[in-house]
Amino acid sequence: MGFDTGALLPLNEALQGMLDQLACNCDTEQLPLPQALDRILAEDIASPLSVPPFDNSAMDGYAVRLADLATGTPLKVAGKAFAGQPYEGEWPAGHCIRIMTGAPVPAGTEAVIMQEEAELEGELVRFISQPRPGQNIRRRGEDMAEGSQVLASGLRLSPRELPLLASLGIATVTVRRPLKVAIFSTGDELKPVGTPLAHGDIYDSNRYGVKAMLARLGIDCLDLGIIPDDPAQLRAAFIQADSEADALITTGGVSVGEADFTKQLLEELGEIGFWKLAIKPGKPFAFGRLPNAWFFGLPGNPVSAMVTFDQLVRPALAKLAGQTFIPPLRIGAVASEPLKKAPGRLDFQRGILSAGPNGLEVRSTGSQDSGVFSSLSKANCYIVLEQERGRVAAGDTVTVEPFAGLLL
Ligand code: AMP
Ligand code: MG
Repeated sequence: MGFDTGALLPLNEALQGMLDQLACNCDTEQLPLPQALDRILAEDIASPLSVPPFDNSAMDGYAVRLADLATGTPLKVAGKAFAGQPYEGEWPAGHCIRIMTGAPVPAGTEAVIMQEEAELEGELVRFISQPRPGQNIRRRGEDMAEGSQVLASGLRLSPRELPLLASLGIATVTVRRPLKVAIFSTGDELKPVGTPLAHGDIYDSNRYGVKAMLARLGIDCLDLGIIPDDPAQLRAAFIQADSEADALITTGGVSVGEADFTKQLLEELGEIGFWKLAIKPGKPFAFGRLPNAWFFGLPGNPVSAMVTFDQLVRPALAKLAGQTFIPPLRIGAVASEPLKKAPGRLDFQRGILSAGPNGLEVRSTGSQDSGVFSSLSKANCYIVLEQERGRVAAGDTVTVEPFAGLLL
C-alpha cells in the first residue's frame, strides 16, 4: 500500500496509487430535478425527443417561399403564426405569413425575413433583402437530436444541466447518494473555538477548513471533533468512523515521530501507507483502509492540510462518489516578481493573479511557510512550480491554478 521508502513520492504517483484502489459503491436514487442539484448523475441521458421539437422561427418577421419573392413584387399577408399558436390555414401564392420568434414555421416555409428588413405598404409587405434558403429557421433537433446522448453518468449536476433536462421533458433523474465522510483533528495542543487557551494550546482550525471543503463538494460530514494523542480515544474514533462513514479524513499526527499511534492503530484495524510527498507544502500524507472506510491522513499544518485535501483527497473523493473528475484549469502567467523555489518538490505557492497590460500576471502572497494561513486567505490562485524547477526570475512564465469552487 505504498509504504514509506524514504524517497519523496511525486504527487501524480501518489494520486494514481490511490485512484487505482478506489471505486464507487454509493447506491442510487431517483430524485426530482430541483433536488438533484449538485448530485452525481448515475445514468447516461439520451434525448427522448428532439430539441427544438419542430422547425421554428428564430426571429420576429415574415415566413416566405423563395418563388414568391422572385418577381420582386410586394407580398400580401395570409395570416399570423405565434409561439404556441401555429398558422395552419391556406397559403396562397404571392403571400407571406407574419411569424413571431418560437412559432412553428408553416409548411412550405423556406426562410424567415426579419421584420427590420420588411417595409409595410398598406396591406403589402416589401422586403429589402433577399434571404438565403433556411435563413432564420431553427431546425427540429438541431440542438439535441432524439436518441442522442446528451449527458454522461458521473457528471455533477449544476445549474446548467437542470434546465437542459427540463427542456427534454425529464422530471426525475437517477443520482448517487451523497458520500459520507467522518473527520477529526488530532493533537493534545488543540482546543475548540469558544474555549480559553492555556500556554502551548492553539485553536483547532483545520476542521473548519476540511468541513467547509466537504460542504462545497456536497458531501455529508460526520464531525468527530478533536481527538487527543491518546490511543484509546483514537481507536474509538477510528471504529466509529469506520462503522458510520465511507471515508475518514484526519489532520495531524502523520509526520515522523507523531505517526506512531495512527500507524499502530491502522495497522491493527486495517492497512496503511505513510507517504512523504514531493510537494510543498504538505510533505507527510497517509492513505489507508479500515474494514469499511477509506482513510486519508492530512498533515497538521493548516496550509498543508488544505493543499493536500485539494490536490489529492478531492479527486479521490470524486472517484468514491462516482463523479468523473475534471482537473482544475491551469494557465500560464508572468511572474511579476522573483519567486523562491528549490528543486526537488512540486510547489503550490499561494499567489495573486491579475490582468496586467500585457496579459496575466502573478505575484506571491508573501511568506510561503506551511503554517501561514494568511498566505492562503490573500491568494486567488496556486502558483504551481514544477518539481525540478529552481528559483523563478521576474518576467518568467509560470503555471497558475486559479482557485475554483472548492476554495472560493
Ligand atoms: P502535526 O502534523 O500533528 O505534527 O502538526 C503539525 C503542525 O500543525 C503543528 O504546529 C500543529 O500544532 C499544527 N496543527 C495540527 N493540527 C492542527 C489543527 N487542527 N489546527 C491548527 N493547527 C494544527
Ligand atoms: Mg500533532
